[in-house]
Amino acid sequence: SAKSGGGGTYHFFTKTMNESAMARLVIENDLREALAKNQFELHYQPKVDLKTDQICGLEALIRWKHPGRGYISPMQFIPVAEETGLIGKIGEWVFEEVCRQIGEWGAANVPPVPIAINVSPRQLMEGRITQTIARILEQTNTPAARIVLEVTETVMMQEIKKSATILEELRHLGLQIAVDDFGTGYSSLAYLKRLPINSIKIDRSFVRDITVDSDDAAITRAIIIMGHNLGLQVVAEGVETIEQMDFLRDSGCDEVQGFLIATPLPAHEAVHHIIRLSAKADIEP
Ligand code: C2E
Ligand code: MG
Ligand code: MG
Ligand code: MG
Repeated sequence: SAKSGGGGTYHFFTKTMNESAMARLVIENDLREALAKNQFELHYQPKVDLKTDQICGLEALIRWKHPGRGYISPMQFIPVAEETGLIGKIGEWVFEEVCRQIGEWGAANVPPVPIAINVSPRQLMEGRITQTIARILEQTNTPAARIVLEVTETVMMQEIKKSATILEELRHLGLQIAVDDFGTGYSSLAYLKRLPINSIKIDRSFVRDITVDSDDAAITRAIIIMGHNLGLQVVAEGVETIEQMDFLRDSGCDEVQGFLIATPLPAHEAVHHIIRLSAKADIEP
């Protein structure tokens, strides 16, 4: 069948076109139902400043809490949501939920940190993302500076003029822009200079082997130096070991994110990390 039985995973890449098309149809219907029945959930992963060891942000990562299949990863359904156009509605839900969460944490006196939201290509390039975000910020009374948008470089390079215009609008609203999975696309840093960007996130695939592969180490160091020369904050994603973190700190990287610090967690668990990582510098100067 199109759906696998176990592990809460869907297999899209089936043998024949028919099966694959069927899988998409099945998941498309399920996705519509998931929206209607509120089956999505956001998990939050902290980002830490390497100079202060304090939390400097959270990233919101969507999960599909499927009845009977448990949590389904966004890697399984975001591509289908993109293809079918459902990403527009799902993306809107993510913005609303993040803003609602910011309000809830604010009311509970949780230390305020910016929250990053992933935006996929179709979300950015189609529809009215600026108007949608502006409306949600206003309705929820959320300061725009609390939101970071994570965009991958591929989309920006394909239609650089159009994406630059949209990103300028979003920046004008007061949002911050980060380039996600940096190094995996085709962009040059010279191009990035023309885009209104605050930070770059070095892709996990470079970070993984920095302590054992001299090429990955060299690439990572080069990205950090060039990023700084262009006035960008440099973040490393997928940091899993102390050795990787030490290498990144020694190389001048600004911020890190990864399982070493914390995995993505539901809001009620993430809040403990926010508090723990906010108090850290006060306790051990
Ligand atoms: P991403 O934005 O690059 O997110 C980082 C992914 O790496 C997350 O996977 C996170 O759980 C995982 N990760 C974090 N630290 C580590 C680590 O130390 N080691 C390893 N091995 N993995 C780590 P996740 O949550 O499955 O998300 C996958 C992708 O799905 C994201 O990649 C993002 O592109 C997309 N995505 C997630 N949430 C949303 C959303 O709300 N909207 C859209 N459009 N895309 C989303
Ligand atoms: Mg991201
Ligand atoms: Mg990433
Ligand atoms: Mg990634």
